[in-house]
Amino acid sequence: MQITTTRSSNPVSDERLAEILANPGFGVHFTDHMFTVEWTPDAGWHDARIEPYGPLSLDPATAVLHYAQETFEGMKAYRHEDGSVWSFRPEENAARMERSSHRLALPVLPVEDFVQAVQALVEIDQRWVPEAAGEKSLYLRPFMFASEAFLGVRPSQHVTFMVIASPAGSYFKGGVKPVSLWLTEEYTRAGRGGMGAAKTGGNYASSLVAQQEASSHGCDQVVFLDAQEGTYVEELGGMNMYFVYADGRIVTPETGTILEGITRSSIIELAGKMGHQVEERKFAIEEWKQGVASGEIVEIFACGTAAVVTPVGSLKWDGGEVGTPEGGDELWKRIRQELVDVQFGRAEDGFGWMKQL
Ligand code: PMP
Repeated sequence: MQITTTRSSNPVSDERLAEILANPGFGVHFTDHMFTVEWTPDAGWHDARIEPYGPLSLDPATAVLHYAQETFEGMKAYRHEDGSVWSFRPEENAARMERSSHRLALPVLPVEDFVQAVQALVEIDQRWVPEAAGEKSLYLRPFMFASEAFLGVRPSQHVTFMVIASPAGSYFKGGVKPVSLWLTEEYTRAGRGGMGAAKTGGNYASSLVAQQEASSHGCDQVVFLDAQEGTYVEELGGMNMYFVYADGRIVTPETGTILEGITRSSIIELAGKMGHQVEERKFAIEEWKQGVASGEIVEIFACGTAAVVTPVGSLKWDGGEVGTPEGGDELWKRIRQELVDVQFGRAEDGFGWMKQL
């Protein structure tokens, strides 16, 4: 892919950037540039460019604003001690976007173009990648949307793919605290044949009211069950789940309608190598309740790009509660440390997961 570059004539000053990187928060500050490439049926992907970051001008009839035909990804760039910048399994994000785009009737952006776009943006904005200390990183947000100005309901004949980037602080700034969960019995996020396995805005729009329900019950995050039977655990609003048994087995839900995380699949490999038997299967909510009550389940954790791994505490639902599992030896912490050490170049990358940007 041929990329033309227009450098920003007004990049953020070194002083201001230092302030931002000292306390980046999440998703509030954006780098000096953005990547864009356009698609039409006749020309395919064309006009790839890097330009100064700035607002888009969209016709009010732009299809994505009406029918939500869009997909996105979330990934990070990590700075290593020697100053080099790396990403974690970017081809997996590209492949997932391919699957998501297929479900949303969007065109496929080839994996190598996706990776090249990310590389090009990180290269021009590399001073925005925070120092290795403190688990800070540069969050990358590739996204693709229906950019044709047309109100008919059909796949858009003009599609735009972009990458923007935003420095991110450590998820655990205030220290590690297990997340408390709310089991929603009113809302689901994905039905059979629906979009659950796709990373698309509508899934997040539909999760918000459930997250509000969780917050109103004093819980940090919401747990979704499968839509069909209301029996099987799916995932949280933005993280996958793992259940650790006293005998060392670990189970992660698989229903066909979850968003399969790259952290989740990395843990399947890593935990296997650490000697754990890993089961990907349907996991009934009753197994959770009974397993914690009986002491068979000794640990539960959630995983995703943002937090990497976070321990799970109590689970509440309308009329009941099960407490924090006990008796584990903090497998979550060892898995988290190993992943973070690989990402920041402090441990050997035995799986070949890291790609230099
Ligand atoms: N489930 C959902 C619904 C998510 O939004 C995410 C974050 N992308 C995940 C799981 C975890 O995926 P990953 O490990 O690729 O970040």
